[in-house]
Parts: sequence; structure tokens; C-alpha cells
Amino acid sequence: MKFQKMNEKVKAALFVKPGKFIIQEFEKPSLGPYDILMKIRLCGICGSDIHFWNGVQGISTPYIMGHEFIGEVTEVGTKAIQQRRINIDDQITVEILIPCHQCRWCKQGRYNICQKDDASFTGGYGRQYGCNIPASRLPTPLWGGFAQYLYVPPEAFVHKYEKKMEWKTGVLTEPLATALHAVNVAKLGAGESCVILGPGTIGLCAVVAAKNAGAYPIILIGAGEKDENRLVVGQELGADYTINSSQIKNPIDKVREVVGDFGADMSIEASGSPEAQVLAIKMVKRGGRCVFVGINGRKALTLIPDTDLVFREVSVSGCILSAQGYEGAVKIIQSSQFPLSKLVTHEFSLERINQAFHFINSRPDNAIKAVINPWPKS
Ligand SMILES: [Zn+2]
Ligand SMILES: [Zn+2]
Repeated sequence: MKFQKMNEKVKAALFVKPGKFIIQEFEKPSLGPYDILMKIRLCGICGSDIHFWNGVQGISTPYIMGHEFIGEVTEVGTKAIQQRRINIDDQITVEILIPCHQCRWCKQGRYNICQKDDASFTGGYGRQYGCNIPASRLPTPLWGGFAQYLYVPPEAFVHKYEKKMEWKTGVLTEPLATALHAVNVAKLGAGESCVILGPGTIGLCAVVAAKNAGAYPIILIGAGEKDENRLVVGQELGADYTINSSQIKNPIDKVREVVGDFGADMSIEASGSPEAQVLAIKMVKRGGRCVFVGINGRKALTLIPDTDLVFREVSVSGCILSAQGYEGAVKIIQSSQFPLSKLVTHEFSLERINQAFHFINSRPDNAIKAVINPWPKS
């Protein structure tokens, strides 16, 4: 382990109340033998961060937000070097979930729905970086990506990039892992047709995940003027067809024109719109599978279960974050097969995080993913 210089400070954006971050300095934590300190190079702003920022959901403040990070090992305990086979300067990413490794779901490998940990802090879910770990949690407040460093305890999953990648591509590991998990949950196979609704970051990563699984054709659906640019990026990432549902009468008919009258083998709903969620179910064929990745703000759906689900034996799965998704995401990113960095349209310094959130919250047409860079000059 490197010896720590006395009084080294870490700059972080502390989320103090809805709509407000303050930049604050914290002590660099002293590490145990199994711990790591990651220097965060970029951290993406996720849709759920915007929900937290708007006060729609989330734990009580203050805490450090941000879970889509990429960086490098800057300090590492001696045991962690042996156990994790990593060392100083390695390019790594750390999974958002820090599972308990003990509950029934963790034991089944489904640690993305880990239940244990301290429910008084995390609301009954496993610990998630940047989402449900308060700044008061020991040994340091550095549990989120909008900071210069991230504390990595032994329970966290760390992935190393054997070949150094552009930070701008590596920062998409978490959303790509989530998209891969959606594809895995529905067991999307080669040659199967797949409809993806919502060309945001997750939807666009789902195009990559579906392409990687050998799906054909991949149909990406957006809505409105604001999605036009995203649909173009979707084509560049591998979508075989794109549809802007605002420009046509019936998107279900349009999908059937492409895949045949029975409908698609699978759909991935990534827009979080209740209307699109219903469409996603109706677009799949008999025996088809539909996965919901987007959250719709707890709204009810208008469905006729008999005809929409039961008679057609359609299965619908919810899908949250990822379990065993990062390995595949790292592999895809290392392959450089897909121009993923096109998703990163805006970069802000840590000091400008409030402006960054106002900007993304206003849903500008030209933005897909905005990232925070805590080291803009190095
Ligand atoms: Zn996210
Ligand atoms: Zn667990």
C-alpha cells in the first residue's frame, strides 16, 4: 500500500437537497489491506440520478451520487493486490452494486436484487454506489461517482480493462452491463427479432447487446423530434431499422411490416413511458418475451391480460441493473466493435455539476449522455 500523504483532500459533489449539490472536500480514507481507492476519471449522469435530483425518489441527503464510473487504481491494499490481481494505475470499473454475498438472492447469483445489508440505510435493497449509501456511512463518505475518488471495499466487484480504453467509452460500462442483463434475462438468441423502445443510453446500449447476441432484425423505436438524432446513432450502433412513432399511425403495424404478421420474438422497453410499455407487450408474437428496463414513475398500465398476455402466452420480466453483466460489457468495450463513445455528448467539470443537472433535466435535443469529469485539467 502506498503511504498516504498527510491531509490529502478529496473534492466531491455532495448532494444536499433536491436540486442542489455543493462541492466539498473530504479526507482521503486510510485503506485496509483488502480495500482499493479508485481515481474517478469520468462518471455519467444517469436517468435515475435525475430522479434523485428532482426529489422523486432516493434516500435522505446528504450523499455523493453517481454510479456510472470508470477510473484507475490509485491506492490498493496488499491483500487486494493478490486477491483481485490488480495494481496501481490499472484501468478499472467497479459495479454499482455492493452485494451482501449472504442473502438468498446473492447465493443464487442474482445479487442485483440483493436484499440484505442495513435496511435502515438502504431501504431494504443491497448497497448501491451513488444511490442509497449516505455520506455518514463509515469509513468515508466516498460512496459515489461525482467525486475525485471512490472507496472500494472488499465486497465490491472490480473489473479490470486489460487493454486501456478511452475514458469516454469505458464510462458506458454500467449502462451496457444493464442492457446485457436485459438481453440475458429474456435469453435473446441469434436470428431472433428484437424491438427496442426508447433510444436513450440504455436503449442504445441494448442495440449493442442485441447485436452482440446475434439478433436480427433489431428495430429501434423513438418518439418525437428529440429522438431523431438518437435514432441515427442507433443505426450506427447496429439497429437494422428505426421507427419514429410520432411520424406514423400505428407502430405495431410498422413492426409487423418488418418482422411478419406474428410480431417480434422479443422487445426491450427502455423508455419508461406507460404507452410504450403497453406497445412493447403488444409488439411481441405468441410466446414472445418482453423485458422492462425503464421505470415509468409508478403509473398503472392499461392492458387486457387475457388477450395481451394469457392467450398469447407472452412473458413480461422486470429487469434491474445487472448481475454478471459487467464481464460481457467490458469484453464488448475492449473489442472496439461499436462506436459507443458517440453516446457521450456532453462533459462537465465537477464544479459545474449543478449546471450539468439543470442542462440534462431540460431534456435538450442534442444530448444523449452527459458525464462529469473531476480532473478536467489532467
Ligand atoms: Zn444508472
Ligand atoms: Zn445479498
